[in-house]
Amino acid sequence: MHLKSLTLKGFKSFASATTLRFEPGITCVVGPNGSGKSNVLDALQWVMGEQGAKSLRGGKMEDVIFAGTAGRAPLGRAEVTLTIDNSDGALPIDYTEVSITRRMFREGATEYEINGNGCRLMDIQELLSDSGIGREMHVIVGQGQLAAILESKPEERRAFIEEAAGVLKHRRRKEKALRK
Ligand code: ATP
Ligand code: MG
Repeated sequence: MHLKSLTLKGFKSFASATTLRFEPGITCVVGPNGSGKSNVLDALQWVMGEQGAKSLRGGKMEDVIFAGTAGRAPLGRAEVTLTIDNSDGALPIDYTEVSITRRMFREGATEYEINGNGCRLMDIQELLSDSGIGREMHVIVGQGQLAAILESKPEERRAFIEEAAGVLKHRRRKEKALRK
């Protein structure tokens, strides 16, 4: 399984439809400061179901929609499609290529699709949950996060590791249960 392409339309600084194609192996995104490199990673997280505006470096979810520039009017919606090569069947779905789309309108409505068919957020989360790329897995290490990990106290570092291993949510649930 590997990511094949990512299409952004009205997402953050990507007002016009932009498609990035990935080959198996390592992909580097290079460009000047403020050119949209981190926005690409935000789009990847967003299409996989991220619900926290802060994780996407915004104040509210609407901030993912192109807000306009001096020469271009704001847009009413953001749309991202991630296409995954599933020829090895790593994703539990009977397609060799899987596209996931998330669309959000400024009025607040959100739509999700798998291969062009409307679905629920839950369906996307379930599809990706065992693949190692879902949002529960901390596989996206953001700018500044690396320093935070390296400079953290042992207890804090443990939390990062627990999150990566997927046990943090269980620990939170246990702590909550014990408090009752
Ligand atoms: P650096 O090298 O400094 O990390 P970068 O390439 O990662 O830069 P990004 O953070 O991806 O840059 O892009 C920042 C740019 O995206 C800013 O110019 C910001 O104004 C623009 N931007 C963010 N959200 C929106 C939005 N909703 N509408 C329009 N532009 C946006
Ligand atoms: Mg950046």
